[in-house]
Amino acid sequence: MSHELRAAVRGVETGYPYIPAPALTTGKGTPYLRSPGVHLLARPAVALQSVGEFLQGYDPALEFPQYLNDPDEISPAAQLCKLAGQVCYASFGPRRTYNRDAARYFQNIKESGHGSVLEHASFSFLIYGISRSVTHELVRHRHLGFSQLSQRYVSGKVLRFVERPEFQNDPELHAMFVERIDLAAEQYNRVAEMLIERQRSGVEILSAEARTDLRKKVQQAARALLPNETEAPMVVTGNARAWRHVIEMRANEHAETEIRALAFNLYLCLSAADDLLFNDYEIVTLPDGTHAVETPYRKV
Ligand SMILES: Cc1cc2nc3c(=O)[nH]c(=O)nc-3n(C[C@H](O)[C@H](O)[C@H](O)COP(=O)(O)OP(=O)(O)OC[C@H]3O[C@@H](n4cnc5c(N)ncnc54)[C@H](O)[C@@H]3O)c2cc1C
Repeated sequence: MSHELRAAVRGVETGYPYIPAPALTTGKGTPYLRSPGVHLLARPAVALQSVGEFLQGYDPALEFPQYLNDPDEISPAAQLCKLAGQVCYASFGPRRTYNRDAARYFQNIKESGHGSVLEHASFSFLIYGISRSVTHELVRHRHLGFSQLSQRYVSGKVLRFVERPEFQNDPELHAMFVERIDLAAEQYNRVAEMLIERQRSGVEILSAEARTDLRKKVQQAARALLPNETEAPMVVTGNARAWRHVIEMRANEHAETEIRALAFNLYLCLSAADDLLFNDYEIVTLPDGTHAVETPYRKV
């Protein structure tokens, strides 16, 4: 991995790598972002010692309890998946694969396509600086869990937009983007105000019992004018097998540019957090200077 790409990933030493995305503002104060922010929030912890009593329940000649005396440590996520795989064959005795050979162990898992053991290790991310069109694509991946900013609940105060890479260095397209998001923000606020006025005057379709519902009735109508380039932050959780599939489909040269940038950042953070589970990917630089990844072990 190049020095530049490695430097983009912060917090590796904490075990929770992240790639921040700065917020910019137009001259009129409309906030926007230019790249996907990806922050690893959670990863597995494992209580290996607690399986001691289980191991002691077998014939002492099998020497299963010495499973816990492995001198080498691997990440909790990898340890969890390895334990899960070793439960399948009761591989706890002295002839099992030790942690020092974990790389070979996971290569076998990936090669043979026995990826179900990778489903035990889940990773959660905060992702932002991504547009509603990207999140519409991401939610097609059915093994991920999502919590997304509600355009019905929040007001225009947290409205932000995402500038596509194609517009960023083109003065004409950038100027049009700025003009468009300024107008969208202004019209959103104007329409919301007009809807509130009509709500107060008793227009039936905007009425509701609770205060929150009143606000939702306004915002669910006002959001209709927001463009695809509106930001849509999310917390997303997936297991290692699901994330691998997302990376393979989306950090791929055929994927849409913005979701590819997101998937590539997710890959950078996941591989920094857990080498054993994600070390088979090779970074490919595409003709436009952006990045994709490839692996010989697709869809484990
Ligand atoms: C470059 C690109 C272009 C695309 N273009 C379009 C498009 O034009 N229109 C469009 O609608 N979508 C499009 N998509 C989305 C695509 O069709 C998938 O919906 C999306 O990528 C999710 O991937 P997945 O189908 O592998 O399912 P995931 O939900 O990610 O599931 C992972 C795997 O689990 C298995 N699985 C999950 N659910 C089921 C099930 N119900 N039955 C059987 N097996 C299951 C499958 O093996 C699947 O591959 C595109 C995606 C890409 C990457």
